[in-house]
Amino acid sequence: MEKFEFRAEVKELLNLVINSLYSHKEIFLRELISNASDAIDKARYLSLTNSELNLVGTDWKIKIVPDKDSMMLKIIDNGIGMNKEEAINNLGTIAKSGTKEFLETLKKAKETGDINLIGQFGVGFYSAFMVAGRIDVISKKIGEEKGIKWTSSADGSYEIDEVEREGFGTTVILHMKEDEKEFLDEWRIRQIVKKYSDYIEYPIVLESKKDGKVEEETLNSMQALWLKSRSEIKPEEYNEFYKHISHDFNDPLETIHYKAEGVNEFTALLFIPSKKPFDIYYKSAKIGPALYVKKVQIMDACDELIPAYLRFIKGVVDSSDLPLNVSREMLQNNRQVANINKNITKKVLDTLKGMKKNDPEKYKKFFDEFGNVLKEGIHTDFERREEIASLMIFNTLNHREKMIDLDTYIENFKDGQEEIYYIVGRSVEELINSPQLEYFKTKGIDVILFTGEFDEIIIGGLFEYKGKKLKSVTKGDIKIKDEDLKDLNEKEESYKPLLEKIKDELKEELQDVKASARLTDSLCCLVMDENAMDESMRRLFESMGQEVPKSKKILELNLDHPVMKKLKDLYDIDPKSSKITEIANMIFDIALISDGEKPKDPSAFSRKIADLMMNTI
Ligand code: ADP
Ligand code: MG
Repeated sequence: MEKFEFRAEVKELLNLVINSLYSHKEIFLRELISNASDAIDKARYLSLTNSELNLVGTDWKIKIVPDKDSMMLKIIDNGIGMNKEEAINNLGTIAKSGTKEFLETLKKAKETGDINLIGQFGVGFYSAFMVAGRIDVISKKIGEEKGIKWTSSADGSYEIDEVEREGFGTTVILHMKEDEKEFLDEWRIRQIVKKYSDYIEYPIVLESKKDGKVEEETLNSMQALWLKSRSEIKPEEYNEFYKHISHDFNDPLETIHYKAEGVNEFTALLFIPSKKPFDIYYKSAKIGPALYVKKVQIMDACDELIPAYLRFIKGVVDSSDLPLNVSREMLQNNRQVANINKNITKKVLDTLKGMKKNDPEKYKKFFDEFGNVLKEGIHTDFERREEIASLMIFNTLNHREKMIDLDTYIENFKDGQEEIYYIVGRSVEELINSPQLEYFKTKGIDVILFTGEFDEIIIGGLFEYKGKKLKSVTKGDIKIKDEDLKDLNEKEESYKPLLEKIKDELKEELQDVKASARLTDSLCCLVMDENAMDESMRRLFESMGQEVPKSKKILELNLDHPVMKKLKDLYDIDPKSSKITEIANMIFDIALISDGEKPKDPSAFSRKIADLMMNTI
C-alpha cells in the first residue's frame, strides 16, 4: 500500500465542494454515471478499432448497487478502466489547477460561495465526498494484468493498492455518511437517474435483492438525445445533456439542434456555454464537438468540425456518411468534414445574428464572454470577415451605456462623414477622456471605443466595413470640414517658426510637431503616423522574435491654448530663450502622460512641477 497527499488546491477544492454544493448533493450520482459513460465510450471505440483486444460483443453497462446493511452504494462500469498512474493523475489532481485563472477563480468562489464558479472547475468525481465519508475505486484497465484500489476519506491524502479485479472496468464504492441513507433508497436512485441521466446511451441498471434473488432494472431510456426530434425534448433534457458532455455545471446560454440533409447528412446538437472556460486561450485545450458516426463516439472533441474562432462551441455531431474507423489524419483532409465545418459555421453565425437582433441582453452576455474569441475570425476567415465584424458590439462616445454595432454606427454618420472613427484602449472610462477625441466631441461625431484585448491588431486589420474605411483617431490626419481647415492652416502659418523650434528641441523623440485639428481643450497630444505599426502589433512581432523599430510619434499642439499664445509671445521677443526649451520638454512629458506612459525623466518632471507650484502659491 502506498500513501499520497492530495495537492494543496485539491484539498481546498474538496472542502469547497463539500461545503457549498451541499444543496445540490444529488448531482454526485450524475457525475459518477457521467464518468462511467465516458469510460465506456472509450472502451467501445477501442472495441471497434483494435480487434486484438477481443471486445466485440461486450455488453456495455453501468450498474448501481445500493446496500443499506453495509451502507454502501456501488457504481460499476465495464469501461476502459484506470491503471495506477492514471488513478494518481485523474483522481488526485485537477487538470486545470496549475493555471493562474484557476487559483483566482478558486479564491473568488471561496469568498462569494458562488456555486457556478465552483462548477466551472468540473468538480465531477469529488462531488461524491458530499455524501460519502470514504470512497474506494477499484479499477482494471483494458489490456492490463493488475487491478488497483484507490481509497480516500477526503482528509488530505489517498492510498493506492494493487488488487485483483475480475474483468476490466471500474467500481466506485461509496461508504455513505450516516445521514445520507436516502441515496440508498431505490425510488430515490430511480428519480435521480431519470432526472439527470436518462439520455445516457448505455443501460443504467439498478441491481437489487428481492427475497434473496438478484433483480436488474434498467432505469434510463437510452435514446441518443440528438436523434430525437426537437419537439420531443424538454429544455431540462438539453441542459442536462450539455452538462454531461461539457463537464460544466452551468446551463448553456444557447442550444442549437438541427439535422442537415442533402450531400452530407448529419445531425448536430450544439451549445454555446454561458461562461468562458479557463483554458479558452490555451493551446492544450480540447476543442470542438464530439464526433459520432451512427451513434458511436469516434472522438470526444474534434477540432476539424469548427473554425478556431468558434472554439467555445460544445456539442455532438453525428454523421451517417463517415467510416467508423476514421483516423485523425483522414479527418484533416476529408471533404465531408470540411463541409460539415462550413455548415456549422454558418448555422452558428446565423444563430448569433438572430440572438443579437431578438435578444440583445442575452447577446451581450455572449459577447462579454466570447466576443474576443469570435473577433479572431475577422483575421482568420477572410470570406466571412464582414459578417463577423457585423456581430461586434461596442460602446461609443455617444453610446456609453448601451452597446451598438457597426451598422448602427454607420446609420448615425454625421453629414459629410465618410469614415468609421475608432480609438483603442483599456477601458471606456479611460478612453472617453482622451484628448484625441475633443474635436469629435465638439462636432458630435461618434467614435467607437474598442477595449478588447486584441482589438488594436484585429481592428487594425479590418481596414473597411461595407465600403467605409475604419480610421483610428490616434493615427494620421483627420479629415475635417474645409472652413475649419482653412482656419487651422492660417494659424499654423503664424506659429511656424515656434513649431520648428520645438521640433528641433525634440527631434530625438518625435517624428514631427504639428498644429492640431483634433484638440479643442487640451494643450497637446501624441498621434501616430498613418502608416506606423500599432504598438501592440509591434510587441506581437517582438514576441515572435522579430525586431521592429519603435516608430516615433507626432506631437500635436492646440494653438488656441493660452500656453501656446504665451509661448509665441516669448518666442517673438527672445527666440533663443532657454524657457522655450524647458517648456517644450514639459509639453512632451504631458503628452506622454495623457497617452498612459511615463514622462521621459520622471524625477526631473516632478521637480519641475514642484517648482511650478512654488511659483503659483
Ligand atoms: P471529468 O469527468 O470532468 O474529467 P472527474 O472528476 O469527473 O472529471 O473525473 C476525473 C477523471 O477520472 C476522468 O477524466 C477520468 O479520466 C477518470 N475517471 C473517473 N471515473 C472513471 C471511471 N469510472 N472509469 C475510468 N476513468 C474514470
Ligand atoms: Mg466527470
